Amino acid sequence: MTWQMARRTARMNPSSIREILKVTERPGIISLAGGLPAAEAFPVEAMRDASARVLRDTPREALQYAASEGLPGLREWVAAHLAESGMRVDASQVLITSGSQQGLDLLGKVLIDAGSAVAVESPTYLGALQAFGVFEPEWVTVPCDSEGPLPEGLARARGARFLYALPNFQNPSGRLIGAARRQGLVAAASQLGLPIVEDNPYGDLWYDAPPPPPLAALWPEGVAYLGSFSKVLAPGLRLGYLVAPPELMPKLLQAKQAADLHTPGFNQRMVLEVLRTGLLAEHVPAIRARYRARRDAMAQALRSHLPDTCRWELPQGGMFFWVQLPAGCDASALLPKAVARGMAFVPGSAFFAEGASESSLRLSFVTATPEQIELGVRMLAETLKEAS
Ligand code: PMP
Repeated sequence: MTWQMARRTARMNPSSIREILKVTERPGIISLAGGLPAAEAFPVEAMRDASARVLRDTPREALQYAASEGLPGLREWVAAHLAESGMRVDASQVLITSGSQQGLDLLGKVLIDAGSAVAVESPTYLGALQAFGVFEPEWVTVPCDSEGPLPEGLARARGARFLYALPNFQNPSGRLIGAARRQGLVAAASQLGLPIVEDNPYGDLWYDAPPPPPLAALWPEGVAYLGSFSKVLAPGLRLGYLVAPPELMPKLLQAKQAADLHTPGFNQRMVLEVLRTGLLAEHVPAIRARYRARRDAMAQALRSHLPDTCRWELPQGGMFFWVQLPAGCDASALLPKAVARGMAFVPGSAFFAEGASESSLRLSFVTATPEQIELGVRMLAETLKEAS
């Protein structure tokens, strides 16, 4: 029996991160590879209490099929939360999704035809390349510097269905688009008629100063915005949201219905209960403090151990350092040697739609303890030394 597979499966590749994560499940490996939130920081007690209250007060509603748009109270909470960052959002524009990853998939379904151009940053989030890739776009890579995409570079993306942008502490580079650059990008994009998909799972994880207002606050009708509860609460809930201009909502909703009918109602009710206790007001600062200490530990370790030929910048938020190795150094070839020593990272080449840089790598500082970070970076430096 031969199963004839769809043409689009040719664009589906195993995520190199998932492949590496398999290796790093081996006991004793210090993984600076995956971007897993620190599990010890999950608000387990608050979740336990909230789930008990949901099962006591609204058990049948929570276990029943629910609306595709999402739980009304949660949509209202999201709209009110986004108002704090300067976005003017009506709850009717909020679609609750099964993780923001599903938001990427739904936007891909609604906006990309085979062969249509999609503009991305360099580097960009691997999961978005995977999500959009199955719809067979032509990638257009927008020139970027240490602050993200260059407004004058957007001309290359003329006619693209959208620009996928990560303004806050980008995965993988950690970079932040500053306020003036945001203005410049929105001015250039609106002049070109180029819509923007703004992905913001890390905005609350700032360590020095809060990020500037989102692109969606500057240009509401031109930006579809993705948010997530994965980094501020827990990724296992699979809870995210998509805020879109009203004209996109009907088709996004139909795509959502077709994909999974709705995001689990039990999870939505549990999270709404937790949010209504005001937990985030103390929980988010506690996560920031924990991650800031780990970021500083990694910066210290990189300063102490990596040779001067490696370049990196201190991320002001998020989860990642992006390290530029000396030219000619191939991070993918380095990885098995690093794993043999007992540490893992993600080679940077996974994060490019085209023109991959072989000499960069991504290090996560949130999952490992400061002691493990010091040890892991030392092993990386030894691997580099051995290879050079
Ligand atoms: N966007 C970016 C940039 C991410 O890093 C992630 C998580 N790795 C996601 C989206 C997806 O997050 P989730 O589906 O858990 O909300």
